[in-house]
Amino acid sequence: MKRRDFLKACLVSGATASLGMTGKAWGSGSFEGYPDGMGVLVDTTRCIGCRSCEAACNKEQKLPEPASSFDDKSVFKETRRTDENALTVVNRYEPQEQGKGPVYRKQQCNHCNEPACLTSCFVNAYTKTKEGAVIYNSKICVGCRNCMIACPFNMPAYSYSSAFNPVVKKCIFCYDTRLKVGRPPACVEICPQEALTFGHRKDLIKVAHERIRETPDRYHDHVYGEKECGGTGWLYLSSLSPEQIALDTSLSNDPIISNVKDFLGTVPMVLTIWPALFSGIHLLATRNKDHGHEHANHGQEDSKP
Ligand code: SF4
Ligand code: SF4
Repeated sequence: MKRRDFLKACLVSGATASLGMTGKAWGSGSFEGYPDGMGVLVDTTRCIGCRSCEAACNKEQKLPEPASSFDDKSVFKETRRTDENALTVVNRYEPQEQGKGPVYRKQQCNHCNEPACLTSCFVNAYTKTKEGAVIYNSKICVGCRNCMIACPFNMPAYSYSSAFNPVVKKCIFCYDTRLKVGRPPACVEICPQEALTFGHRKDLIKVAHERIRETPDRYHDHVYGEKECGGTGWLYLSSLSPEQIALDTSLSNDPIISNVKDFLGTVPMVLTIWPALFSGIHLLATRNKDHGHEHANHGQEDSKP
């Protein structure tokens, strides 16, 4: 790559970053997901912590086998988070009230209506599909990791295996293999307790409220994800309050998109140039590499609708 091309890439990227959300499909408060988008209702009152969903995800996404088997329940001694090799994890929470059993909660990317990961990505590596999935294109990603900082649920994980082939890893709602042909994700299909219900998000919200209405003793009266951060595709019901199962209640009902935009409007130039430098370095690295052989895609998603 010529020095002039490198500087041009930096300038174009820097301008895009400093102008904020150029090229994004929507602005703050103007987009509420796709009306027919799909989602999943996670009913933690039904979950028994069998970890079958973790195993199904591992197989579907062709992830490396974990060090210990999915039958190993000792993992519940610690609270785990998703990482590059585990796009969903189940954690156990002990209720504060005596006489109540533990609650298990599966976690993964919540496929937000207005995703902060997408908004924060200055090269548009993320897409919210009309089916409701938030997917990621590793061929475009430059490895700046803005999305990891922006996500209110700490979901994107980063693969550190190669400095010049950045790969962000997170649940993609089994988009390639299932969602785009109308099939439920692998975790939903395998769950022996029907703790996971796949459907149109708007219908799932009705189902969740019906369950609370019909069996109020069973549920804390809150559908987590209905409103938080502008709404998420994956929704949660529990017998415990959201705080007790480590769901963040400090989040506003406004999409994080607003905050990210405000933030980008106030950051000094050095921060807006930072992603541009990443972009230039990445272009330089991949161009040099392409002289030898094709640049392979190690990400989860190539296509953009
Ligand atoms: S949970 Fe995080 S990674 Fe998933 S769509 Fe929302 S902002 Fe993006
Ligand atoms: S498969 Fe169903 S019951 Fe088993 S841990 Fe996952 S959500 Fe819970």
